[in-house]
Amino acid sequence: MLQSAYAIACFLLVYLVTRVCCHIALRPWRASAGQHWTQRARLLFSGRLTAAYCLLTLPVDAYCCAKLINAHDHDLPTPISAWAVSFAAVAAVILACESVSREIRPGNRFGQFFRSTASIVLLRYLSIVAILAATAIMPWHFGIVAWVIAAVTVAALIAMQYGLTVNIMSRLGILKPADPDLQQLVDDTSRKMGIAVRHTWILPNTAATALALVTTRDIVFTSALLTHLPGEQIAAICAHELGHLSEPPHVRRRRQLSAFLFFPLIFLWPTIALGNRFLLYFAAWLFIVSLLRSQLGGMARQMEIRADQLAGAAVNNPAVLARALERLYEVNQMPAVIGRRRSVHPPLYDRMTAAGIVPDYARPLPPKQRSVLDIALLAILVILITAQFATAGGPWPRKSQDASQYQSR
Ligand SMILES: [Zn+2]
Repeated sequence: MLQSAYAIACFLLVYLVTRVCCHIALRPWRASAGQHWTQRARLLFSGRLTAAYCLLTLPVDAYCCAKLINAHDHDLPTPISAWAVSFAAVAAVILACESVSREIRPGNRFGQFFRSTASIVLLRYLSIVAILAATAIMPWHFGIVAWVIAAVTVAALIAMQYGLTVNIMSRLGILKPADPDLQQLVDDTSRKMGIAVRHTWILPNTAATALALVTTRDIVFTSALLTHLPGEQIAAICAHELGHLSEPPHVRRRRQLSAFLFFPLIFLWPTIALGNRFLLYFAAWLFIVSLLRSQLGGMARQMEIRADQLAGAAVNNPAVLARALERLYEVNQMPAVIGRRRSVHPPLYDRMTAAGIVPDYARPLPPKQRSVLDIALLAILVILITAQFATAGGPWPRKSQDASQYQSR
């Protein structure tokens, strides 16, 4: 009963904080009604970043607060479950973001945000979800159970690459086979470019996008893309995705390996239980991940430029692809220049000028990458984590405790 009361209180508080933060962050966007879409997208991007900071920081804040209250208040009949309040916080941030999403897209019905976000997460990030799930159930010690979980996770990650994700999503009715018109368009483009496609899918979604699954040779178009783009532009986007399907084998292998980048995370708990060695383990892991990420990011960016060039040649007019991309950015309200050197896609503005188009607006400034509000959210997180370490020595039990007590985390 008391546990539920804490979780509900945490949910309400986090919901309120997220709504207030997003309300403040979106004030410049609200005041920009009537301005060019690139300017509005730029202001909206800052609001989206604040929502992301809320999602990343508030559940950890809730976890630390619960641990701190448990450590200081010994009169509690039962300790507060730190995991329960963090899950309540995650749910609260997501619900608050749903309300904000309906302000950004007034036509959206309640729940469309959840369905769209969940289906994109399933399709693109199921491997990360599997790694996090394996991390959560991993025991504190290396042993038969730990190795079985690791082996099952590896098998699942490989199966996802080879079509498990698409299979599950199509069986659940989330992915739908292409209608005859779209299939015809894909077949024509595929024949013209001499690049085979296995299946074409439609993903009902409010985001206008398309993606190529390079291992299974499937292409996915979202319903929003098909609604907002004319046939000629859909063919150009299709040609871009086919460009990805024709990437050299070594690029495909590296893309497949990238699904395993975060795999070592599953050994977090048993490594911590080993003692100080976990610091070395994590330092080595972070170093390798940062090296591989920058290398894979550079390669992926080169492949985007290559796919743009192939698509421009396939539709005999690079400007058609550039206009299609511009329409996608406008529908998704994404900035024409994001201002991140490491992002996989080159800025829309540069892709348009590379296609020979002179946009009818000046190159927009990149959006602000961090507002005062975002810094405040980060500062609160750092303070709470520091306090948690100072009080309890971290989220894990003290070293002096017997290993058998490493149960509650
Ligand atoms: Zn691409």
